[in-house]
Amino acid sequence: MMKNRSLNRPAAATAPVMIRQERTADVHCLICTHRVQAQVLVDRRGARVKSGEKCSRCGSSLEAGYVLSLKPAA
Ligand SMILES: [Zn+2]
Repeated sequence: MMKNRSLNRPAAATAPVMIRQERTADVHCLICTHRVQAQVLVDRRGARVKSGEKCSRCGSSLEAGYVLSLKPAA
């Protein structure tokens, strides 16, 4: 009797990314040129700073800033 079933099923490697995901990321503030943390929205096209996010250093809007690096979801 051949029983070849493995319990180790491969995980779905290509799980679709959620349409919109809110994450914390490092964002480059164009005004004070510092790296601050802000909430960003991630979708298939990339990451954008969430509307209304403010720089924690200078208080400027970060919507025009660059998202530098995403952190793993907490
Ligand atoms: Zn700033």
